[in-house]
Order: sequence, then C-alpha cells, then structure tokens
Amino acid sequence: MAKSDIITIEQLIEKARNYLTADDVEFVSRAYKYAENAHKDQYRKSGEAYIIHPIQVAGILVDLKMDPVTIAGGFLHDVVEDTEITLEMIEEEFNKEVAMLVDGVTKLGKIKYQSKEAQQAENHRKMFVAMAKDIRVILIKLADRLHNMRTLKFLPPEKQRQKANETIEIFAPLAHRLGISTIKWELEDISLRYLNPQQYYRIVQLMKQKREQRESYIEEVIKEVSNQLLDVNIDADISGRPKHLYSIYQKMYKQNKQFNEIYDLLAVRILVNSIKDCYAVLGIIHTCWKPMPGRFKDYIAMPKQNLYQSLHTTVIGPKGDPLEVQIRTKEMHEIAEYGIAAHWAYKEGKQLNKDKKSFEEKLTWFREILDWQSETHDAEEFVESLKVDLFSDMVYVFTPKGDVIELPSGSVPLDFAYRIHTEIGNQTIGAKINGKMEPLDYELKNGDIIEVMTSKHSYGPSQDWLKITQTSQAKNKIRAFFKKQRRDENIAKGKDLVDKEIRALGIEPKEALTEENLKRVYERFNFINDDDLYAAVGYQGITAALVATRLTDKIRQTRQKEQDLAQTLEGARNEYKEKEKKKYKKDSGVIVEGVENLLVRLSKCCNPVPGDEIIGYITKGRGVSVHRSDCPNVLTEEAKERHLHVEWEVDQTQKQYHVDLEISGYDRRGLLNEVLQAVNEMKTNITHVNGRSDRNKMAIIQITILIHNTDHLRKIVERIKQIKDVYTVTRTLQ
Ligand code: MN
Repeated sequence: MAKSDIITIEQLIEKARNYLTADDVEFVSRAYKYAENAHKDQYRKSGEAYIIHPIQVAGILVDLKMDPVTIAGGFLHDVVEDTEITLEMIEEEFNKEVAMLVDGVTKLGKIKYQSKEAQQAENHRKMFVAMAKDIRVILIKLADRLHNMRTLKFLPPEKQRQKANETIEIFAPLAHRLGISTIKWELEDISLRYLNPQQYYRIVQLMKQKREQRESYIEEVIKEVSNQLLDVNIDADISGRPKHLYSIYQKMYKQNKQFNEIYDLLAVRILVNSIKDCYAVLGIIHTCWKPMPGRFKDYIAMPKQNLYQSLHTTVIGPKGDPLEVQIRTKEMHEIAEYGIAAHWAYKEGKQLNKDKKSFEEKLTWFREILDWQSETHDAEEFVESLKVDLFSDMVYVFTPKGDVIELPSGSVPLDFAYRIHTEIGNQTIGAKINGKMEPLDYELKNGDIIEVMTSKHSYGPSQDWLKITQTSQAKNKIRAFFKKQRRDENIAKGKDLVDKEIRALGIEPKEALTEENLKRVYERFNFINDDDLYAAVGYQGITAALVATRLTDKIRQTRQKEQDLAQTLEGARNEYKEKEKKKYKKDSGVIVEGVENLLVRLSKCCNPVPGDEIIGYITKGRGVSVHRSDCPNVLTEEAKERHLHVEWEVDQTQKQYHVDLEISGYDRRGLLNEVLQAVNEMKTNITHVNGRSDRNKMAIIQITILIHNTDHLRKIVERIKQIKDVYTVTRTLQ
C-alpha cells in the first residue's frame, strides 16, 4: 500500500478491474462520479479538491480488495455530512446497503473522544463496534482515518495531537483487533510522529545509522537460508522484515530497553506454499542456527485471536546476534497483513446477499470470526456474520462530559443515573437525551448523550423504577432507598397506632401529644426524639398501647378524680330515687345548684335553718349534707374539695327546722318552766329538753326547738333573754 503517493481515480479503477466484474467497476465508478459532483467546489485544509480524500479512502479499500458496496461507501462516506445529499437520495441512486454504510460512517464521525483512562478507551472502541453494526463501516472509517492521518500536517498542532491521540487509543487498536496490521502500523507510526516527535525522529535516526550494517547482515541470512531450501526443494519468498517505529518506541520506552537491545530489529520472514513447508523450514532454521529457549511460538496450531497465524522463532544468527524468523504460508501472510479484510477479499462472480437476516445467536467478536474460519468458506455467509450485533448485549452512551458508559442493552436513563451516582439516581426527575426531554423508561441507544435532570426536592424513587431499570446496580440502590424510607413509613405507622390507642383510652390525641409530654415519654423509653419512638412503634419494637398509657397517665389521673366525684353525685341521686320509691320523703328546703333529685340532708352538727349561710357537702354514699358555712366540720382543706353550692328555697313557711339552744342562768326554782313557757308562747314546738346545774348555782338548759327560719329563731332567742336570771342564749353545735 502506497503511503504518501496519491492514487488517482484512473489508477484506482485499474486496480479494481483486477478483481471486480465490469458491472461492479461500473457501479464503483458511478459512486465516484456522484461523490465528485456532490463535493465539487469543496476543498480540504491542504488546498486540494475535496474529492481527493474520498478517492484515497476508496483506494485503501480497493487495496484491501473490498466488495463494490464498500468501495462505493468509501467514495460517498462524507457526502451526507458535508453536502446536501441525503441518505434517501443515496439509497435511491445506489441501494440500501450503500446508504446503510454511509449512515454508519456518518454516525461514527459524530462520536467525540477525549483522552481518558484506559477503560474509557476500551468503552469507546466497543461503542464504535456496537454503533457500526456492520464491520464494513469500521473498515471505511479506518480507511478514512488513515488518509486523514496521512494529511494531518495541514491541521493546527492542537488538532494534530488530539487526532493522533484518538488514533492511538481507538483506531489503531480496532485495526489490530480486525487483524489489519498494515493499517494498524501506519496509524501508530503517524500518531507517534505527532504525539512524541522527538522520540520519533530519534528512532528514525538510529535506524538510519545501522541500516547498511543491518541490510548486509540480512542479505547474508537470506542467502544462507535460500541455499538450504534449494537443497530440499522448498519454494519460498524470503525477505527482511520491516520494523515499525511505534513497536520499537514501545520496546524502548515501555520496556526500558536500549535501541541495540531490540534484537528483533534483525528479522526475516519466510513465506511458503503449505503448512507442511512451514514446519520443514522451521526444522532447517533450527538446524542451521541455535534456537533461543522460550522464543518459539506456534501460532499455526494456536492462532491469535485476530486470526493471525505464523511460526515465530529466534535463533543465534551467523554473527552471534539474535535473529528473529517468521515462517508462514502466503495465505496466512495475507491475513497477517489485511486481517478480516483478507477473509473478505471480494471473490469475482459472487454477489453479496443484500438483506439476509442477521444471526440470531449472539456470539462474541472472536468466536464468530473463528467459527467462520473453521466452518464457512463462503464470503456471503461471512459478510452476514459481520452484521451481527457484536456487542448487542451492551449499549454505549455518553455523559455530557464525553465519558462513555457501558450498560446492558435495554437500559433506561435511570440505570445511567444510578451508574453515575446513587444520589443522582435518587433525585432523578427527568432525562434529556441528545438535548431532548425523554421519559424515564426511554430505551438508551448507542451514542446517546444523556443529561440527567435532578432535583433536591424530588420524591425519590418510585416502586415502578424497580420494573423500569435493567441494571442490578440501579435496582439495589432503589431498594436501599426504600429500606431507608421504610423508617419514614414506620414513623407514620407508629404515629397512627399511638393515636388509635390514645383514643381507645377516651382521650383526644392532641391533648396528650404536647411537645412536653412527648419529650417526657420518649426520654423515659430512652429514645433520642419522638420520631425514634414512633419508628420503634412502627416496627413493633415497643407496643403502641404502652406508649399511649405513658402518654396519658397524668391526664387519666385528673380524669379519675373528676370521675369519682361524678360517680358520688350519681350515687347520691340513685339513693334519693330509692328512698322516693319507698315513699320516704323528707324535704330539706335546700336547693342544690344544677342538680335535682339529690338526697339532701341538713346536717345535725350545726342544724342550719333558712337564713343561715349554708354550703353543701358531698358525703360518701349519703347524698349531700347541708352545713352552716361556719361549721368547722366542713371547713377542713380536705372537705373543701367536696363543697357544693346550695341555697335555701324561697318559700320556707311550711317547713320547720331543728335548732339546738343552750341557755345558762341562775339556778332558781321555776327557771326551766319560765323558759319552756316563753317558747310555748311563741307557738314554737320543743322536741327535746335537758336541764342540769352545777355547784356554782349555774343552770344549763339545752332545748331543741322547731323553727321556720333565722328570723323566727332570733325572736325566740330575744324572748328567752328577757327572762329574769338568764345570762346567755347560744345556738349550739351537737
Ligand atoms: Mn472522510
């Protein structure tokens, strides 16, 4: 393959004629003319007509002996991106396959790559392959990149480094995977020139200095081997093997070797006609020169993953220097140089099947190729195998910063969000895909640029997310969120249970759930705050009943007192009713405020009468007793709790009340009689009389009389006081 020479369209067509039919050549020419027309008036940075570039790209593809569709794709690869031509127009003018290839190359062109860590480079390579869908897209892209690298000097230095870096990290490894070593080496060497010009030119110098010496040495080896092979009648091409700058650079700088330590600088390659001849030649080489231990590799029996086959050995050569020898068949050499393209080299007369179903089976990259090698020798089938989605299990998408994220296919923006960060996942409220809002269950496609919209105020994951997401990573994080959130649920549940228990105790929750009261209770149970207490109730670490009991203890104590009083009143009322039933009726003439039918009794200790100031006293089980308000029996602190407001009835004329009077006077004959007579004169009944006298001639007369009211009483007391020898008249307590 010519490196710096520009191929003309005439040369290209001439080369194509060597392996394509006249119809195919016509098809390819048509693609050229179409591209030339589309790109007319366009120029490259170098100042050349733009069409030179597609011609070179197609030329590289012709060198790889690609099929006419791929070559047409090479001519047309830039028209959709750079001209008015659309994919539909290409499909109409040519066919679906050409349009598909152009579409693929255009899409790959949109992938932006910035140097990142190795993993990112690997992901980018996978993404390329995944997006390409058809390996021919990658071949066109490699040819495109190769020509762009050849003309890199026309770009500004910054761009040169960027492109060179992208080439070394993405394109050269892709070429290597596909086994296309010619392209791989050239891409690497050009990249090195821009990435590390100093070292590049130093190696160029070093190689130049020893060239003559090296070449004469190789010549000697070739002569010797040729003679040996002539003896055994083996037909072979023997040549010095060119070393590539980049591989020397890597050995020197990555393995830290001196230039003259790199002994495979001296290398010969022997191409023969059969595998049998390969081993025969190996035997001869090992007979001539002593093999170095551990340097023999049989890649014929065990091909490399990219299908490379060859025998490698290193021997101590004629001048005592290590000499590397590669032995392989001519077919193997084709594969070594052109890799996948060599397998695919277009065979005259065979039309490629246009729209065969792609293989159902998902095989890995290398298995497919290897399978093809052992089972299929048909170019058509091979092309079909290349259409299989090689990484169909995966989808490759971009962060807004250009990182590639690898996700299982079927992944949605939420999987992406959780891959970036848990918090981003939890706060996701939407996603922009390629700048457009899409639903959260949007299925990600290769090359999508994803911008996750988040909000600190989002409600967090919903249960649906577990169904939408594909990655176990996302699902696990969503589950973890729910686990944590369950605390919130437990708090709510606990609160609800405690409320219910409080209500069951007949208390309004808000009465019991004061801040102060809650604090008292959660501290008592050794919780930090009320939420912890509620959460514990929620997960049943403590019963709601117990919490409710504690929360209401004070309220219930107060209530109990009130209730006891009420019960007493109720009891008194019932007693009254009982007595009424027995026709027992005793009217006290006292009204108990707000209460009817209550058993009311005038107390016997102070015998209040209408006109006296009175208070009611709630007795235990014997109703209300009415005392004079100055009666010491009802003035104790304890008794005050049982006071009840009572009043005399207004009409008292019909009723009589007992009053105790004590009269003191000089003990003379007839005093008792005069007292009784005076009371009698006042039309007042006496129910009880008791008289005695002491040694000092003091008479004490105690009488109990029935009076109507205090007025009546006062008159009687005045009347008694008028009796001669009466000293005092006192109303007494019993
Ligand atoms: Mn291009």
